[in-house]
Formats: sequence, structure tokens, C-alpha cells
Amino acid sequence: MPSAPANATRPARRPTVSRDVVVTAREQITEHMLRLTLGGDDDLAPAVHGTPGSWVKLFVPDPRDPSGSTEHGRAYTVRGFNPMSNEVDIDVFLHDGGTMPRWAESCAVGETARVGGPRPSGAPGRDAASMQLFGDETSLPAIAAILERERGHRPIRAWVELADDADRQEIALSRGAGITWLRREVGAAPGSALMDTATRQRFEPDAGVWFAAEAGAAQRFRGLVRGLALADLHIQGYWRAGVGDYRE
Ligand SMILES: Cc1cc2nc3c(=O)[nH]c(=O)nc-3n(C[C@H](O)[C@H](O)[C@H](O)COP(=O)(O)OP(=O)(O)OC[C@H]3O[C@@H](n4cnc5c(N)ncnc54)[C@H](O)[C@@H]3O)c2cc1C
Repeated sequence: MPSAPANATRPARRPTVSRDVVVTAREQITEHMLRLTLGGDDDLAPAVHGTPGSWVKLFVPDPRDPSGSTEHGRAYTVRGFNPMSNEVDIDVFLHDGGTMPRWAESCAVGETARVGGPRPSGAPGRDAASMQLFGDETSLPAIAAILERERGHRPIRAWVELADDADRQEIALSRGAGITWLRREVGAAPGSALMDTATRQRFEPDAGVWFAAEAGAAQRFRGLVRGLALADLHIQGYWRAGVGDYRE
């Protein structure tokens, strides 16, 4: 009898299909965060994973290619999905020198793009008795989505590092949830305030821990929690300083 392949128990990866979208609204929600609402005729529900803070790959045309055949693709969190209007909200952090911020700032309602998905967020599951979330401007949309999905049945703490206090957001918190805004000082390495805080935390074995920020900080966080028994652990570099189109 042939032996089962080594990866026989690994769940099959859901196929990722891309869908055409149209920018239906734009809203500057804080100093450096621009919310784009994407809709259109293609059904977007299959592109949205059920986990809060899930993400899609957003593809936009390269303005330097008049033929329109060259595209740039970057990961963006599904901040909200309205099945009635078939619209997805994404929040684009407007940092210097970014391809997507440049596109997002100049795009008009009616502009077309594509999204590929669904992709899960790795948010701690229901088994975790408490949650500790760590992030920066790029993972704030995911943290907000995770916090808003909670119903107050477990303690949940989030720490978000920002370069500018003007990017703090009002987030609906359930009972037992709290968010702490950390300031990244000028010239400090991205994620340094997060790591200062993380080293002072206690991580209980029944906790779900989620970290998403700059890749170097994510690497340091991996070192911090290495060997700990935890109910759930997800660590991801969402971008890397000095590297365009970073993928982990
Ligand atoms: C799963 C996932 C979900 C994400 N969700 C979001 C989201 O909802 N909103 C969001 O804004 N981002 C999100 N990101 C991060 C985003 O994909 C990256 O920041 C990406 O690099 C943005 O592309 P860009 O065109 O702006 O910059 P790129 O063209 O990729 O990079 C150009 C330059 O900008 C630098 N750079 C990239 N990001 C930053 C930053 N945050 N701060 C300072 N410099 C930077 C790079 O190091 C590089 O030097 C997510 C990433 C992942 C993996």
C-alpha cells in the first residue's frame, strides 16, 4: 500500500482569485490614514476571509506604463466589508516614498483596481483565554477589526506604536478590552517602543499573542517569545524598512 504523502494532513490552500474593483469613496480618517471603499460588479464576499483583520492583495496600475499592463500589488487589511453594498474598506497608511500611498492619494472615485484574496489574519482563535495584540500604523486596521469583533468574553490588550499621535483612532472596545498608544520617537527604529513594552509583559500559557509590524521588530519579537507555550501565536512582518514590496 503506498504511504500517504508527508503533507497529507495539511489543509489545501484556498484558491486566490482576483476581482475587479472600483473606488467608490475616499475618506481621510486620521492625519496619515486614508480609507478607500472598493466596490463594483464582481462579488467581493469570496475575497473576504471570515477572520477579523483578514487581508487582500490590492493591485493598481503602474502610472509609468501607458499600456496599463504593469501593476503593483501590496497587502491591505479588510477593515470592513458591507455585504449589502458589496463594498470593502481598506485603510492606507500614507508613509513617504510608498507606491500605494502615491496611488491612493491621487486616485479618484471611479478609478479601477483589482483585489486578490481571501487571506486569513492569524487572529487568535476562540480557545485563547485572553489576547495580547502588538502593532503599528500598518496593522492598526487589523487590530481595530479584531477588537471590534470581540464580545467581552475575555481580557484583551492591544499596544499600537505610532509616529504621530494624530493617527490615533476611536475604536469600539468590548468590556475587558484596552488599547495603549505608544509613541515612536523621531529616529527610533520602527517597533522599538513596541519591543520595550513587550519585554515587560507576562505571556500566560492560555493567551493568544498576535504581533504585526516592521519585519526587523517582528524578528526580535520572535526571539522574545521563543520557547514559550501559548494557546495561539502569530507573528508577521508587515513591511521592512528600506525594502519595497516586502514579502515574508
Ligand atoms: C497581511 C498584511 C496586511 C497589511 N495591511 C495593511 C493595511 O491595512 N494598511 C497599510 O497601510 N499597510 C498594510 N500592510 C503593510 C503594507 O503592505 C506595506 O507597508 C507595503 O510596503 C506598502 O506598500 P507601499 O507601496 O506603500 O511601499 P513599498 O513600495 O512596498 O515600499 C517603498 C518604501 O517604503 C517603505 N515602507 C513601506 N511601508 C512603510 C511604513 N509603514 N512606514 C514607513 N516606510 C514604509 C519601504 O521600506 C520602502 O523603503 C499590510 C501588510 C501585510 C503583510
